[in-house]
Amino acid sequence: MEDTNVSRSFIEEYIAEDFEKYPVVKTRFPPEPNGYLHIGHVKAMWVDFSMAEKFGGTCNLRFDDTNPVKEDVEFVEAIKKDIKWMGFNWDKLCFGSDYFDTCYELAIKLIKKGVAYVCDLDKDQIREYRGTLTEPGVDSPYRNRSVEENLDLFIRMKNGEFPDGARTLRAKIDMASPNINMRDPALYRILHRAHHQTGDKWCIYPMYDFAHPIQDAIEGVTHSLCSLEYEAHRPLYNWVVEQCEFEHKPRQIEFARLNITNTVLSKRYLRMMVESGAVAGWDDPRMPTLCAMRRRGYPADAIKDFLSRAGVAKADSIVDAAMLEHCVRENLNMNAMRAMAVTDPVRLVIDNWEEGRIEEIEIENLPVDGAVDRGTHTVPFGREVYIERDDFMIDPPKKFFRLKPEGEVRLKGAYIVKCTGWETDENGNVTVVHAEYDPESRSGECARKVKGTIHWVPVESAVPAEFRIYEPLFNDSDIDTEHLLESIDPQSIVIKHGFAEPCLAGAEPGVPYQFMRVGYFTADYDSAPGRLVFNRTVGLKDSYKPRQ
Ligand code: ATP
Ligand code: MG
Repeated sequence: MEDTNVSRSFIEEYIAEDFEKYPVVKTRFPPEPNGYLHIGHVKAMWVDFSMAEKFGGTCNLRFDDTNPVKEDVEFVEAIKKDIKWMGFNWDKLCFGSDYFDTCYELAIKLIKKGVAYVCDLDKDQIREYRGTLTEPGVDSPYRNRSVEENLDLFIRMKNGEFPDGARTLRAKIDMASPNINMRDPALYRILHRAHHQTGDKWCIYPMYDFAHPIQDAIEGVTHSLCSLEYEAHRPLYNWVVEQCEFEHKPRQIEFARLNITNTVLSKRYLRMMVESGAVAGWDDPRMPTLCAMRRRGYPADAIKDFLSRAGVAKADSIVDAAMLEHCVRENLNMNAMRAMAVTDPVRLVIDNWEEGRIEEIEIENLPVDGAVDRGTHTVPFGREVYIERDDFMIDPPKKFFRLKPEGEVRLKGAYIVKCTGWETDENGNVTVVHAEYDPESRSGECARKVKGTIHWVPVESAVPAEFRIYEPLFNDSDIDTEHLLESIDPQSIVIKHGFAEPCLAGAEPGVPYQFMRVGYFTADYDSAPGRLVFNRTVGLKDSYKPRQ
């Protein structure tokens, strides 16, 4: 990663300051396998992996699968694929469930030490006893059970003697703590549910706040980086490490979550959109998931660039979605091969061009200063070409420099043509435009200039293509999650049918193209031989104004 004008983030400062204590940095990325990763998770992934990388350390991938209810192996594989695609390599692959035995043993240890007890209050009672931000909590009547009784009850919890929710194992800390997380938080709960890794072995599961510090300590994580909502859990994190008597004490550091305008970054809402059918799936190219962005054609490097520009801060903020598009566009400008496609075609016939005559027209693949030379490709040019319907106007406004009656325009890379007439159907729609070309005007061999240049595709060898044009799912920069589904813009996907030049017949998903004057595109997985489908990755126009 480049570090030239970016000042060091506060996380780097903290890690550097810990050098004596932790000379070898170890981090972990802990996704819960209950959905596909969205760009918020990608920020966490990027922070975890790139911090380790920066300090010559390593990062583990740990699936936080301590809640058996919502999790699935489908997501495990998808998340691995996403991480690899981003170009990150994990050191060890772990599962929270790998540590169930250890967590259980440590729970027994805490009971024996007299710092954990089995509580019979139900969920509502626990909430009542907990107190509020302004009032202290009240001790549970079960708080002073003997060690023997606690051990007996906890083992019976494990053996499946009690129904879900009947009892919990709680830490005995301080019901009057100003930090509500420290008011005897639950460490274990009863849940008669099979787990995707451990099957029916367990009917009690450790809570995140108990399991996570244990996992970090066992793996030798030096810096446990997480989002800001865990800040108030840090004292509990440290309490668990301390009470379990781990010699290795990881340091938890919190950073702000990523929020982006015009989208939602929460699995709960994303799942709702998928399950209601409001979008075509987790990888619908309008979604803020990584699989959707990949499908849409966002390069991994552009996403990293975006994350590094958005930066790592201690306070929450919201980033303009246009900045992400800006990074994608900038990357594609330097990398996407130029080609021609017509998304709303009308036929143009060059009447003074001999039938059957074909000339090969050369198009530069990457005409950008500073880009690597990617050579040229050719497009056959003949008597009939498709042009964009809106590149021809019968009755144009002033300053319309495309094709109009008696007007001249250059066909990109080829000849100057002059409009000599047109045909319409019974509804007045233009069906054919007629033109004559100037034989002396071939591009590169002619000094004569005209104001407009338009793109085209040869009719004879054109390949039919579908173009999917995407706009933000939500028009409002700030989304009303109460009315989430109704807020989705039906115009956020528009499908057009047109043609692409012949070299695009074998376009592969993930390979970026700039269709000149139209936008950046990549082939979709839905493409089949003879049935090309392109996703518009981003348009050509940039609405983002970088701050000076
Ligand atoms: P969601 O609220 O979308 O369900 P989550 O936090 O429950 O997200 P996890 O799979 O538990 O999802 O998250 C994996 C990691 O990603 C955690 O470390 C979490 O803090 C982090 N993370 C999740 N959302 C964001 C975000 N918007 N910005 C930064 N980090 C995030
Ligand atoms: Mg979570």
